Amino acid sequence: MKNDQISLGWNFSNSYVKLPTLFYSKQNPDPVEEPEIVIFNEVLAKQLGLNIIEHRKEAAAVFAGNQTPEGAIPIAQAYAGHQFGHFARLGDGRAILLGEHVTPDEERFDIQLKGSGRTPYSRGGDGRAALGPMLREYIISEAMHNLGIPTTRSLAVVTTGEPIHRETVLPGAILTRIASSHIRVGTFQYAANWGDKENLKTLADYTINRHFPDLEQSEERYLNFLREVINRQAFLISKWQLVGFIHGVMNTDNVTISGETIDYGPCAFMDTYDPATVFSSIDREGRYAYGNQPYIGAWNLARFAEALLPLLDDNQEQAVELAEKEISKFSELFGKYWLDGMRAKLGLMDEGQEDEELIKDLLQLMQEYRADYTNTFRALTLDKLDGEKLFEKEGFQLWYQRWQHRLNSQQEKETAIRLMRKSNPAVIPRNHRVEEALNAAVEEEDLSVMEKLLDALADPYAYSKQQEEYCEFPASTDQPYRTFCGT
Ligand code: AMP
Ligand code: MG
Repeated sequence: MKNDQISLGWNFSNSYVKLPTLFYSKQNPDPVEEPEIVIFNEVLAKQLGLNIIEHRKEAAAVFAGNQTPEGAIPIAQAYAGHQFGHFARLGDGRAILLGEHVTPDEERFDIQLKGSGRTPYSRGGDGRAALGPMLREYIISEAMHNLGIPTTRSLAVVTTGEPIHRETVLPGAILTRIASSHIRVGTFQYAANWGDKENLKTLADYTINRHFPDLEQSEERYLNFLREVINRQAFLISKWQLVGFIHGVMNTDNVTISGETIDYGPCAFMDTYDPATVFSSIDREGRYAYGNQPYIGAWNLARFAEALLPLLDDNQEQAVELAEKEISKFSELFGKYWLDGMRAKLGLMDEGQEDEELIKDLLQLMQEYRADYTNTFRALTLDKLDGEKLFEKEGFQLWYQRWQHRLNSQQEKETAIRLMRKSNPAVIPRNHRVEEALNAAVEEEDLSVMEKLLDALADPYAYSKQQEEYCEFPASTDQPYRTFCGT
């Protein structure tokens, strides 16, 4: 057994368990009846230095939690979080961190099993996950990675051979999630509320060492730490906005310190451009609507800053002032990343005074004429203006002339087109295609639809023939698309 484990390529080195036990509970995954790999990520496995193909059975046992690989020290992590504005003590209720795997390139990644059974933080939950939602996380997280957006990743999904009970009986599954860490804003809120100042400092020092080692020697270490986390989140959320990604449940426990997108529950990509777009069935007031994401990002970071206050200054008033000053920079940072990204989407390589207005006017027109977000930019990139009502409107034609004029102020036409191709995905995981793939996988045990979709999403900027069918807008229905979380 031990030899098999070694040949799989695991190389665990666990640092999180060296933190005070306040931050976690040792917890083995619950073994499952019949582990079977549904899908695994060969490319990612290679990058991690893992050899799954030749050790499929051993790998399945690990991914199911039936076998603990050599060197792993399974834990459930403690954290808290503001969920839709309400503060709660949480923790990994259905996930186990096997440990940190160090790749041949010396990179450290958390290996987490999601859906692996109850933990001390499960509250009323069963600790389990259903196949559909785990495959959904697999598809969307890998699509996000391929779009060039920082994210946790998906190494594998296994079925457990056990039914789970939701509104109906569903096949149980476990996702193996890879993250640069699972430290969240909620982890700091937990330290601030259930630990003492020393615990908070220990967590901050640990996180700085793991994610921001350059700050270790800096004088105002914790203030710089806050600044960097704000910066990474501003960058991340700008990336979401630029591709039309709606996270759906931006609670503080779902905000990583590393700046990776995490927790693909009710997330979805927007089709028609509308800032009020919401997909999540539980987000009745549109708190996490597309257009709100930057504001919620700033709100979440303010909660992070609050948790850090004791480390910013011994004088509370002074600490609050410092924190507020940093938080107030979020909107400017976000705005800059967003504007840079939008310029690139329109092929603008330098900064023009009129750019922001040009961009906002386009978005306004897209909203007015209910244009598809991705396909509009795709059409502009290909300079093939069909498929949208928008393109026939006089307002758009006037805008187009302004844009051409602005483009002509630049020398290099070819470079501008290349920039647009790199910045405007030809495909996104459209909701109806994701549903179609999940239905085939869950209802028919047919993975081929999902594999084909994953293929099309492997390079969203390829503009290949094979991707064309995935650009089609869904047939209109009376029912708005709805997503669900915690399932
Ligand atoms: P999420 O909405 O996935 O971010 O989860 C919020 C909290 O609920 C986290 O603490 C989860 O661990 C917990 N949770 C979600 N689903 C379950 C479940 N089936 N069993 C136990 N805990 C769960
Ligand atoms: Mg979560």
